[in-house]
Amino acid sequence: MPDPLLFPDAHLPLEQPTAAGYAQVIFNRPLTTVFTYGIPASLIHEVVPGKRLIVPLGRGDAQAIGYCVDVHQTKPERKTKLVTRVIDSDPLFTPQLLKLTQWLADYYFCGWGQALDAVIPAAAKAQAGSRERDFITAVPDPLIPIAPPRLSKKQAIALQFLRDHPGTHEARHVVDQTDCSLAVLWGLVERGYATREKRRVETHLLPPRPLPTQVPLSLNHDQQKAMEAIVSKIDAGGFHTFLLYGVTGSGKTEVYLQAIDRVVRAGKQALVMVPEISLTPQAIQRFEARFGSVAVLHSHLTDADRGSHWRRIAVGNVPVIVGARSAVFAPTANLGLIVVDEEHEASFKQESTPRYHGRDLAIVRAQREGIPIVLGSATPSLESWNNASKGLYTQLDLPERVSGRPLPPVGIIDMRHEKIPSGPYKAIGPSLESAMKQAIQADGQVILLLNRRGFDTCLFCPDCGQTIKCKFCDVAMTYHRDGKPKQTGDLTMPRTIQGYKGEQRDSSGIVVCHYCGFEMAPPKRCTTCGVGSLRYYGLGTEKLEEELAVKFPGIAAARMDADATKKAGSHARIFRAFQSGEIRILFGTQMIAKGLDVPTVTLVGVIYADQALHLPDFRASERTFQLLAQVAGRAGRGDHGGKVLVQTFHPDHPCIRLATKHDYRTFAQAELAARAMHQFPPSARLARIILRSRDALQVEREATRWGQMLHPLQPQGLKVLGPAEAPLKKLEGWYRYHVLVLSGSVKILHGALKAVQAAYQPVDGVEVTIDVDPMGMM
Ligand code: ADP
Ligand code: ZN
Repeated sequence: MPDPLLFPDAHLPLEQPTAAGYAQVIFNRPLTTVFTYGIPASLIHEVVPGKRLIVPLGRGDAQAIGYCVDVHQTKPERKTKLVTRVIDSDPLFTPQLLKLTQWLADYYFCGWGQALDAVIPAAAKAQAGSRERDFITAVPDPLIPIAPPRLSKKQAIALQFLRDHPGTHEARHVVDQTDCSLAVLWGLVERGYATREKRRVETHLLPPRPLPTQVPLSLNHDQQKAMEAIVSKIDAGGFHTFLLYGVTGSGKTEVYLQAIDRVVRAGKQALVMVPEISLTPQAIQRFEARFGSVAVLHSHLTDADRGSHWRRIAVGNVPVIVGARSAVFAPTANLGLIVVDEEHEASFKQESTPRYHGRDLAIVRAQREGIPIVLGSATPSLESWNNASKGLYTQLDLPERVSGRPLPPVGIIDMRHEKIPSGPYKAIGPSLESAMKQAIQADGQVILLLNRRGFDTCLFCPDCGQTIKCKFCDVAMTYHRDGKPKQTGDLTMPRTIQGYKGEQRDSSGIVVCHYCGFEMAPPKRCTTCGVGSLRYYGLGTEKLEEELAVKFPGIAAARMDADATKKAGSHARIFRAFQSGEIRILFGTQMIAKGLDVPTVTLVGVIYADQALHLPDFRASERTFQLLAQVAGRAGRGDHGGKVLVQTFHPDHPCIRLATKHDYRTFAQAELAARAMHQFPPSARLARIILRSRDALQVEREATRWGQMLHPLQPQGLKVLGPAEAPLKKLEGWYRYHVLVLSGSVKILHGALKAVQAAYQPVDGVEVTIDVDPMGMM
C-alpha cells in the first residue's frame, strides 16, 4: 500500500499508468491549437522539444507526425493519449527558433506547425547526408564478469584491438582493421566484453573550404564611419537596427565584412541574408576569401548539401552563414550579427504559406537575441527609409563610389521620337545601337536589360481582336521559340507596337503561360473565334537575342533569364564568361541587374524602362526606380568610366527622371508623400485578404461576406478597400477576389482580422488567405 502522504493521488485510479511526463505537440495544419500527449516511461529521455514525434491523432488508430514544442510534468485535466514513437535522434530546431516561428505564425496568420514545418529544410528532416551506423566500445576489465566466457580466436583479436585503441569505434572500421566479421563483434557484445550503440554520422562530405586568402581593404572615410558605428553596437551588445544606404559601388560589402570580422573574432556567428538571385558564386567567394569557412543556404543546393550545411550550422562549426530568405531560420546557437543585403528586394517575402518577410523576421530575430542588424541597399525600401527618418533605425550613408569614381551619367532616349526602322527588329533604337557599337569598338562590354522573357509576348487575333490567354489564367500567353520554359516566371504584360503588323509563326516552339506553366503548340487560328489567323507581337529576351545576332554579327552575346539558366551552374557559367570578357554583350531580365561588378562594363542599356510602371500595384514606381538604379549601377565601375542609356515612352515620369539623376532621396520623399495621401504603406500597415474558388459566383459571394464583416469595423481605425476582383482575376483555374485592409496601427489591424477570421464560417471550395504586409498586389 503506497504512503498516502507521499502519493496523495494514490487512492485515485491511475488514468494513465504509463505517462511519465507530458509533451506539447503541434501539427503541420492551419491550427492554432497545441495538443498534449502523455510520454511513456520508456521514451521519457528521448522526447525533448524540437523533435518530431509520431502520435495518435483523431479517432481510431490514425497516426500523425507532430512537433514536440515543450515537455512538462503538469498532468492535464483531460485524458491524454500516449506518444507512439520518436522520429529524430537530435532536435531539429533550437528553443529560440521555436519562439520565432510562434511569433511568425501569430503575425502572419498561419498555423504554428505550418510555420515550423516550412522553415526546416526537407533535407534536415530526412537527415539527408547522414546515416545511422553501429559503434562498439570495449568494456573496461573490472566490469567483465568473473569466469569470463571463452572467446574464439577472431573474437580475441578484435577485443585486443579494442583494448589497444581505447574509445568508441565505428564497427565497420574494426572489421576492416582486424579482418573479422560483424558477427564476431556482436559476439563480444553478447558475452559482455563490449557495448554496441547506434550513432549518426555524416556520410556526405562537403568540399573542403578554402582558407582565408584576402586581407581587409583600408576603408575610406564614409566606410570607416559606418563600420565604427556598427562595431560600437556589436561591442556594446543589444538590439539595434542600422540602415546602410550606400550607392551602387560604394563598398557596402566591405563594411559588412569588417563588421562580421569583429563578430567572428568574438567567437560568435554572423548571418548574411541576400536575395536568392544574388547568391552567385562571385558573392559567396567574397565571404570565403575573408573567412574561409562559410555555410551556404539556398534552394539550389542538393538535399545532402543542404542537410550537411544545416547540421554544420547547428553544431556551431561555421562562423559565417550566407543564405537567402529562409536563412533567417539558420539554427545558430550564438548569433552576433545579422546583415540583410539588398534589403528592398521583394523576394525576401515568401509568397506561399507561411507568408513571412525574411527581412522583417530578421529584425524580430535580432531583437529577440539582443544583437545588431544591418539593412543595406542603394535603393532602400520605403518602409526602411521611413523607419530611419523616424529615428527607429540609425541611418549610415555611403554617398559616393569607392576610389572617387563617379556614378555613371544616364541619358534618356525618348522612344516617342526615336526613328525606328520598319521590320521585325525594334528593340534597340538607332541611338542605343550606335552607342553600343562605340562601346564595343573601344573594347568595352555592354549590359542590356529587358525584363520580359520569351520571343513574342502577345498573340493577337486581327479578326476578333482578342489576345490569346491561358485557359487557366487571366494572363496573356507568350511565344517561346526555344526550349521548354520553367513553370513560373516574371510577370509580363503584352505590348503591341502601333502600326506594326505582327509576324506569323510556324508550329515550332511553344506558347506558354508564365503563371501556371501551361503550354501548347502555337495555334494557327485564334482560339476564341476559330477563324482569324494569329499575329505575334511584343518583345521578349529571345527576340532581342535574334536582333543582336543581326545587328552585331560576330560579337559574342549571352542571354540571362529564367529559361537560359535552368541548368544548375549555368548562371555562374554565363557570369564567368562575361567577367572574363569572352562574352561582350550580356542581356536579359532583372537577373542581370544585381551583383555584377565588372570594371570593363562601359555601357548599360535599358530596352524598355516603362515595362512595370503601369502595373496596378502601389509599388510600381518604387520597383521601377529600384530596377533602374540597380542596373545603372553596373556601369562605370572601372577606370574607363561608363554610361547608361534608358529607352522610355515616359521620359517625364518622375520615377524615370529621378532614376536617371540617381536621386533616390527626392524620389523617396515624393513617393512617401503620395503613399501618405492614399494611406498606403509605409504610412499604414496593409493586409490583403485573397479569396479563391473554382466557382466564380461563390468567390464573389464570400468576398462580399468578408467585406460586410470588415466595413463596420472601420470606425475603430481601419480603412477597407474592396472586395474587388484581383488584378489577376483568374489563376490556375481559380477565380480570385481580394479585400485590402489598412490601419495606422498594426494592433488594430491584427485585432480586426483575428475577430473577422474567428467569426467567419469557412465555406467548402473557397480558400481564404490573409497576407500581412503583402508585397504582391496582383
Ligand atoms: P556595393 O555593395 O556598395 O555595390 P561593393 O562592396 O561591391 O559595393 O564594392 C565595389 C568595389 O569596390 C568592389 O570591387 C570592392 O572590392 C571595392 N572596394 C570596396 N571598398 C573599397 C576600399 N575601401 N578601397 C578600395 N576598393 C574598395
Ligand atoms: Zn496559366
